[in-house]
Amino acid sequence: MKNLFKMLAHLKSLDHHYMTWMSFFSLISALTPLIVLTLSRFLLNALVTGASQRYIYSLLAGLLGSSFLLYNLQAYLKLQVDIRRRRIERREAQGKSRKLMELDLAFLEDESFLTELEEIEQKKYISNIGVIPLAEQVESMTQAFFNVLFGIGLSLPVFLLPLSAGSINNPLLTVALFAGILLFAGFNSLLNNLNIKAAQEIVAGDLSRINLQFGYYVMRYASTPEGAKDVRLYTSSFVQDVAHWLYRGSHEFILQIFKQLGKFPSYQELLLGFNTFLIYAYIAFKAYVLKLPAGDILLYAGTITLVSEGLRNVLIARTDLKLNWTYFSEYLDFTELGVARYEGSLPVEKRLDRSYSLKAENISFAYPATKKEVLKDINIDLQIGKKYAVVGLNGSGKTTMIKLLTRLYDPDRGTIKLNGIDIKKFAYQEYLELFSVVFQDFKLFSLSISQNVACSMDYDAAKVKACLEKVGFGEMLASMPKGIETCLYTDYEEDGYQISGGEAQKIALARALYKNAPFMILDEPTAALDPVSEFEIYKHFQEIVEDRTTIYISHRLSSCRFCDEILVFDDGQIVQCGNHEELIQDPHGRYYELWNAQAAYYEDKS
Ligand code: ADP
Repeated sequence: MKNLFKMLAHLKSLDHHYMTWMSFFSLISALTPLIVLTLSRFLLNALVTGASQRYIYSLLAGLLGSSFLLYNLQAYLKLQVDIRRRRIERREAQGKSRKLMELDLAFLEDESFLTELEEIEQKKYISNIGVIPLAEQVESMTQAFFNVLFGIGLSLPVFLLPLSAGSINNPLLTVALFAGILLFAGFNSLLNNLNIKAAQEIVAGDLSRINLQFGYYVMRYASTPEGAKDVRLYTSSFVQDVAHWLYRGSHEFILQIFKQLGKFPSYQELLLGFNTFLIYAYIAFKAYVLKLPAGDILLYAGTITLVSEGLRNVLIARTDLKLNWTYFSEYLDFTELGVARYEGSLPVEKRLDRSYSLKAENISFAYPATKKEVLKDINIDLQIGKKYAVVGLNGSGKTTMIKLLTRLYDPDRGTIKLNGIDIKKFAYQEYLELFSVVFQDFKLFSLSISQNVACSMDYDAAKVKACLEKVGFGEMLASMPKGIETCLYTDYEEDGYQISGGEAQKIALARALYKNAPFMILDEPTAALDPVSEFEIYKHFQEIVEDRTTIYISHRLSSCRFCDEILVFDDGQIVQCGNHEELIQDPHGRYYELWNAQAAYYEDKS
């Protein structure tokens, strides 16, 4: 029951009125056959006893009229319930993506968290699992509950009728009947529980992992343009073998579930059959002894059929709800995940002169998933308007430091200060507004170029164009018939533009410019550019970044020369800092080594 209430609370959070509409629909659906049965009872009795024609016609009109009204009302309510179900499905998907966007980055960079999330998602591919099935199961449970309740209420007289005139109701017979019913129902419930448990174990265990792997190899690896190239050249039979092996595994598990759950209906039917038989025998006996009118027999037999169907549906819905809980128990845990970072409330002063200084004092950091310290005692003092280059081998901690400066993570030790105040004290979103960042693995969307640059559905077209021109995309833009309205990629637009890596990088740079934040952080911003475009960007670098404080990560050391200060990272530490002329003087320094390693490529060895 506790789990059921949790699932109901989830449904309510997605649509406050679903339960009301659904209950009303279930109520009318349960009442309709009972009203029809009751009117039929009177009609049949009237026909048998030869009642007046007027009475018979009015009963007939009542029967037809009420059926017409009730079935129409049912259709209307069903439509409302269906519309709300779709809304629930959409809102759940929206809620999930909102949650993912709000969560600390640490979750999304933790492979095991992503795998768990994917495993939860995979469970939805098993039938009867997910939020729409939940809404349907709750509806069928409610309807079945009303059926049983009203059915018992309407058939109650047959159990209370005294067996012979003057004698009280024969309690022994009725007690024996109900004891029999309870016994069969108890058996039913016991078998049902054993069955559900076995099926739950299969669902919760290996099936979702197999589905996950299958999804990865077949859907996300082999069927994407990126994976398809490798598959064709190296691994096609390998991926097919893996896919086949996984398919067989998944098939086995699904068969097991079907077999497991398939056993149940046969026992269930048998046990329910016994119950129905007992009740019919009881009614037949009473009808015979008390000479009940034909209409009454019709009513009792009809309602008892409804009760037994209702009982069966309650049991089926219960099985399905329990199976669905294997998904919801984990999904609801995900929805309850909180944001761990400290959220300050200080507003960030808006300064048109971009007069913000940023200082990292003795910061150290380890990723939560690995616990290995990847930044050790870092000190940085970013002065207003200066240009900084960050160099160092892969894995030396350059990107991680950017993540700390932009509060995607908080340092384990040490403090980062903006104009002398700990950055944790500022309102988080306002603080993020201070940075225009182009990460190495930036993403563009399948939307128009303008929306990609502005990162918004509404934008200032002239500003978008100016930013694109600044980063050297002007010529390309002029050749596009739809200009900044050109859609990127062909996912949603047939005439979308399939951009190259270099063009994408320019658009990402334009996006950073459009944001017009006081700090500009560029992580390998020219890695995908051809030498000519790269040269153009460097030539105009000063013009592009203006007086913004800029951090520029690059492997191309020659391109760092125009920066005021170069920070050399090595194994999570800043081992040197100074400008190019100063650093190159130290033949034992890391910078000298890196510089010479790269210079060797460009020297003429002939
Ligand atoms: P760089 O930018 O200098 O190439 P990074 O800052 O990306 O280096 O990485 C520094 C170290 O942190 C590396 O050892 C890397 O493997 C590790 N690392 C980076 N991201 C994560 C992460 N999300 N979880 C665990 N370790 C990470």
